[in-house]
Amino acid sequence: MNKTYYIETMGCQMNKLDSELVMVPLERAGYTKTTDIQSADVIIFNTCSVRQHAEDKVISKVGQLRSRFLKHRDFVLAIIGCMAQRMGQELLDGYPQVAVVCGPGQIHQLTDLIEKAATNLGSKKSRDDRSVALNTSEKSPELEQLDTTRQYVDTKKPFMAFVRVMRGCNNFCNYCIVPYVRGQEQYRPLKNIVDESRRLVEQGVKEITLLGQVVNHWKNQHNGHTQNLADVLHAVHEIDGLLRLRFVTSYPRNFDDNVLQAMADLPKVCPYLHLPAQSGSDRMLKAMNRHYTVGEYLDFVQKARQIVPDLSIAGDFIVGYCGEQESDQQETLTLIEKVRYKNCFVFKYSPRPGTKSEGRFADDVPPEVKQRRLVELLALQSQVSEKDNQALVGETLDVLVEGLSKKPHLDKDSKTPPPADTPQLVGRTGGDQIVVFNGDRENIGQIVPVTIKKTSALTFFGELAK
Ligand code: SF4
Repeated sequence: MNKTYYIETMGCQMNKLDSELVMVPLERAGYTKTTDIQSADVIIFNTCSVRQHAEDKVISKVGQLRSRFLKHRDFVLAIIGCMAQRMGQELLDGYPQVAVVCGPGQIHQLTDLIEKAATNLGSKKSRDDRSVALNTSEKSPELEQLDTTRQYVDTKKPFMAFVRVMRGCNNFCNYCIVPYVRGQEQYRPLKNIVDESRRLVEQGVKEITLLGQVVNHWKNQHNGHTQNLADVLHAVHEIDGLLRLRFVTSYPRNFDDNVLQAMADLPKVCPYLHLPAQSGSDRMLKAMNRHYTVGEYLDFVQKARQIVPDLSIAGDFIVGYCGEQESDQQETLTLIEKVRYKNCFVFKYSPRPGTKSEGRFADDVPPEVKQRRLVELLALQSQVSEKDNQALVGETLDVLVEGLSKKPHLDKDSKTPPPADTPQLVGRTGGDQIVVFNGDRENIGQIVPVTIKKTSALTFFGELAK
């Protein structure tokens, strides 16, 4: 009988990639993907632990499966990802419907664990077949093999793929759970990264995003010389058929100039950095254990913009961290104005169990103040983006076309139906700006020149250049 699996992914790109990776052995074992959670034989939640809200969502979804479990015991529920690693046995103890708990370092075992749990479905004994697999510290050849033997499966965004270059993080920012749940930094061999990228390009991928929690920390000893991310960029850039190459997420320290130089020299490498600052206040950066000052961050931004023309930068900020005052918030607003980010992701601080912040500092900024500070930061960023984007009206930019536009932006304005032979398409510039324009279906998957006619804070509207 055809067995089905349902998978839901929360959190960051790492999780998205892990979900793609676990689907391959599941499908080899005879499972077919379904979007109907109610009928699925296997339900997988790939979870995030970075904020309390993300964990609460998972607990609520797990709760919704309790009555089906008690009545039928006809499915295997697997919790994978960072929350699985953080809570471990607690998830099995608290929720009888959970059959498998598997941390990010053990996902190569997931299909076996699911099969084991499935053997006694329907019987009360099935609780005996529940499993926990957690270990982030060991280098596992099987885990590496899961990456290197992957099939390209993302059908939502054809032409684009993530390739992991490293796992884990050694930074231990005081608020962050990642080093505890993803373990110490481990760098993938350059050959494996290149081979995997080449295979993806052979399967039709045009844009690769190299992934790491601190992607600029990648290193490798080679013939007595230390290779760094610049060597990865050069090697992947060589692949015929690849159109674009990006990397995320960058830490604002330990960023070698030769990575910036590679960005400037290699035409396929996009002029884009995701460079979280987290705060514009030295006092807060120290409390967060970020190991840089605002001045050092700004110096790096200035140098990066000198070396990489047209560099676009996305930022991350945490508002309402322990002890944050209005003066700290003002300094963060000042930083946003100075850096002129392309966009910012802003998060309200929530203490994570097991982190240094949770153990040592009071979460003393009231929720309504966190909310107000978040709105203030986003409002300022929106003003910055609107103003800076307007300056690009009239420019012709290279856009990698991702597919048909979901929202009929242009036609809503012009009140005319879209011409059948020139549907609305959506794509991105090298600087990661979203561009909507009318074009040809054949443009999908190609880089085309688009003249920008109008802009908003988040989207550009244009016309295919003749
Ligand atoms: S750099 Fe800091 S915030 Fe980023 S993953 Fe590492 S510990 Fe977490």
